[in-house]
This record gives sequence, structure tokens and C-alpha cells, in this order.
Amino acid sequence: MKNLLWLQGLTCNGNTQSLLNAENPYFYELFSKINLLYHPSLSIENNLAQLIDEIENNRINLDFLVVEGAITKNKNYCRIGEFSIGELIDKLKNKANYIIAVGNCAVHGNFPALYSENNDVFGLQFKFKEKNGFLPANFKTKSGYPIINISGCPVHPAWFAQTLLSLYYDKKILLDKLNRPKEIFMYLPHDGCIRNEYFEWKAEAEEFGTKEGCLFYNLGCRGPITHAPCNKILWNRISSKTRAGMPCVGCTEYDFPTRKNYFETKKNMGIPEEVPFGVSKRAYIMISGVAKTLKNERTSKKLEETD
Ligand code: SF4
Repeated sequence: MKNLLWLQGLTCNGNTQSLLNAENPYFYELFSKINLLYHPSLSIENNLAQLIDEIENNRINLDFLVVEGAITKNKNYCRIGEFSIGELIDKLKNKANYIIAVGNCAVHGNFPALYSENNDVFGLQFKFKEKNGFLPANFKTKSGYPIINISGCPVHPAWFAQTLLSLYYDKKILLDKLNRPKEIFMYLPHDGCIRNEYFEWKAEAEEFGTKEGCLFYNLGCRGPITHAPCNKILWNRISSKTRAGMPCVGCTEYDFPTRKNYFETKKNMGIPEEVPFGVSKRAYIMISGVAKTLKNERTSKKLEETD
């Protein structure tokens, strides 16, 4: 059986909470295949020091090291047992076949890095967009992969399970330039959003929670400018933010904590400052103009009023 050890740095525990809600596979199914050696908030027995010793002395093989939360270089806080989070990573980084960073904090540093007073908080291999994290930019694990980044605030449990099981079965996974699995992060929340018809016809929602309207132009939706499959792999198998009438806030991206006014679309002379990936501003303006001029009767009405 392959072994997995989970560590937590500066974290709200959200990715663990999310994983406990996994349904495909369920948490217990995943960990009936993979041996969970230790998890700081789930393990009953505090045997971390002994495990570290056994891993360091090659008596236990560490197949997967999973890290949730940002990493601080300050040894005085964020300690697990007798070790600081940084010491733990230093001890285990060359022992693990794969290291997976789970959640925006472990990947990019996120809010803990943004608000750290001494500039001593990092993602594992990145700090925001830069490859300037806790571990060197050229660091690779025994398997030859860099830190595999699964970003999100929190991560969907299926994104984690899919990546973990691909590695478990020795499948090759392609990574994007932020070292995220492409199979997951090549999609946008815009792909599969049930509001796409409204987006095409520039029929915009004016308030949250409505069944109709696209949330891009007025309410700050970042679905077309965020990498995440939130409308392909649905949350709790049934929904997503945009399906519930809430804009995508781009929580998988490095700039998530640095943006202001999440529910507002920044515009310049009526034109969004950021337009969908792959579309030029000129094309966006032209297509919007045509769509508004021609008008779709269906998307101009409340759904209950349509035939
Ligand atoms: S609500 Fe967001 S994700 Fe959905 S169609 Fe509009 S821009 Fe795209």
C-alpha cells in the first residue's frame, strides 16, 4: 500500500473540510487504497516524531507528501508537535516521491503571505505569481515532478482525488506554467456555466441570486478569466457559485487575495478592464455591440415569462 502524510501550515483547514465531503470517491474509499500515515487534525495518535524518524531512516516509504496551508520561515509559530512546518518540509522534501500543495495558501501563499508582517510566509514553490516560494524554483521530488499545485480556496475534493489517483496509478500528468494539473486547470468556470446564453447576448444580472443573467459585466464574475472546472466538476455534485447566482471570485488564481471589490467589474469607459481569455478587447466590444443591437427575446425576459 502507498503511504501519504498530510501536513498543515497556516491554514483555515478548508481543504481538509472539503476533502471530508468527498463523494467521488468518498474519503474512506480513497484512504482504503492509500495509507494515511498522519494528518494533524484527523489523526488520533500523535506519532509524527516517530514517523519522521522512520521516514528519514528509510524504514517507511513516503509516496505522497500533501501540504495544506502557507509556509512560514518563522520557527516560533505554526508548529506541529516539536517541529515547525518549515523544519518538517525540509526533513521530508527529499524523501517523498510526490509533493502536492493543496489550496491557494500552500500553492501561492494567499492571504497569510499577503498579510505577513515580516515577509516570511510563502507558498511551497511559489509566492503569488513568482517561483519564489519556500522551496527553490528548480526543486524537484524523487519522481522528477516539481511541487504539484492544486489551487483553490478551497480545492474541490475531486480535483485532489483525481490527481492523487493518477499518480497512484503511475499515470503521467501534464502541468501548466503554475505547475497545476492541466486536466483540471485547463477549464474555466465559464465552460459549462448555465448562464452562457446570457453572456453571449450580453443580458446582465443586476443582483445576486437571480436565475437569469450573466454576472460578468456588473457583478465581477471571473468565470471567463479563471482556471478551474467549477461548472464541469460540480460542487456537492449539484451546483457551483454561478449556478447559484454568485459570481466566480477567481479563488484558484495567484492574485485572489490582492484583488479588491470581488463583486464589482472594474471598467474603463464602460469596457471591462479584463476581458475573457483568448478574446481581444476590440473583439469583445464588437461582439457585445452586435449582441446588444440584435437582442435575444428569450434572454431579455424572466425565465418564468418565456414560452
Ligand atoms: S456568470 Fe460568469 S461564468 Fe457564467 S456565463 Fe457569466 S461570466 Fe461566464
